[in-house]
Amino acid sequence: MSSDTVKYLLPEDQLPKAWYNLAADLPAPPPPPLHPGTGQPCGPDDLAPIFPMAVIAQEMTSERWVDIPEPVRQIYRLWRPSPLVRARGLEKALDTPARIYFKYEGVSPAGSHKPNTAVPQAFYNKQEGVKRLSTETGAGQWGSSLAFAGSLFGLEVEVFMVKISYNQKPYRRALMETYGARCVASPSTLTNAGRTILEKDPDSNGSLGIAISEAVEVAATRDDTKYALGSVLNHVCLHQTVIGEEAMAQMAMANDAPDVVIACTGGGSNFAGLAFPYIREKLKGQQVRVVAVEPSSCPTLTKGTYAYDFGDTGHLTPLVKMHTLGSTFMPPGSHAGGLRYHGMAPMVSHVKELGLIEARSYAQTECFKAAVAFARAEGIVPAPESSHAVKAAVDEALAAKAEGKARSILFNLSGHGHFDMQAYTDYFGGKLQDLDYGEADLQTALAALPKV
Ligand SMILES: *Cc1c(COP(=O)(O)O)cnc(C)c1O
Repeated sequence: MSSDTVKYLLPEDQLPKAWYNLAADLPAPPPPPLHPGTGQPCGPDDLAPIFPMAVIAQEMTSERWVDIPEPVRQIYRLWRPSPLVRARGLEKALDTPARIYFKYEGVSPAGSHKPNTAVPQAFYNKQEGVKRLSTETGAGQWGSSLAFAGSLFGLEVEVFMVKISYNQKPYRRALMETYGARCVASPSTLTNAGRTILEKDPDSNGSLGIAISEAVEVAATRDDTKYALGSVLNHVCLHQTVIGEEAMAQMAMANDAPDVVIACTGGGSNFAGLAFPYIREKLKGQQVRVVAVEPSSCPTLTKGTYAYDFGDTGHLTPLVKMHTLGSTFMPPGSHAGGLRYHGMAPMVSHVKELGLIEARSYAQTECFKAAVAFARAEGIVPAPESSHAVKAAVDEALAAKAEGKARSILFNLSGHGHFDMQAYTDYFGGKLQDLDYGEADLQTALAALPKV
């Protein structure tokens, strides 16, 4: 590779053949999910009504490597391996001695990392004879990813979309419908969970926790339907490791290794995808810092409690041990819709407790400022979620400059912002505020954590 290379591209035949399971290499396994009724660890049978068996097996596996099925690799080829880019324009704009690299997941058909798990989940459901998938979506990235994957396998997809986003983001809905999915505003009258909320609050804007309850209820009550989740769970983190495995091979092409690895965290999956392979190397002695970045308006890792909690507002899901703000916590309406979840992936929470990662939070306007600087130097407009990782990378590069020391920075650009331009319009119009969550609301939500 010449010394002015910008894109490090792997050929299709070097697409990873297996996903990496960090649980196999940790000193202690993460605490198991618990059945909400009995308080006992969940077995495969507890999850069978809502997930296909292959996915349940992956959720619980202790194997280090899980083969990527050939039909899934074949579909991955539509956009993978994704490029690793040296952000030379940004380095210059910041006048930093740091070397900045980003892994670009916005090249997928849906524009983010989420199809990396939507495709295998659709594949395993199809293999087991499932006809329909139900799911929830916040800003619409997951719904459109599953709609895309469902269309490739001939599965019907029903998406419960948080009502405020349903009204604010008509183009995401149109994208889901283009792929043939049905998109319903949540809370809806189609489920008990939705009707219960609407009785109490007919004008409810909805939340991810409510939409999850609706989607899980549909899967649990219909034989032909299973549920698919786009983040948080172990199998989702597993599928996303294709990002980190590719990135390692590409960093080797660049003859470099990151001193710091950065990604934003909503439920934790794009972070897990890039970071877990690097944590494996860290456990073997490689010097690398790993940084998770979240919005200060929904500060799960930096302000949450590490405790067993429900994944949804309606309390239908198993209890999982994670950093949580409480399942009834309603984060203020920031533009990073994908980062507004009350909990964190149990695996990400666990590595935080083990001291293997750092976490930090930023307010939304400073993230948009960094995202605009990035767009003007690199051309790509980051998704509002990804702008948190951009901001952290910029701060690391400026710290390197202040110290007068080079360092190698790798971050995940989890998606592009082409469906989020209203957020940029608001930013340029001076309408974006740095909303704080209410401390009293947080304490109320934490006080309601289930007693385990
Ligand atoms: C959904 C989403 C996220 C947040 O989800 P994680 O599971 O934490 O990765 C981040 N970036 C983009 C672009 C997203 O669509």
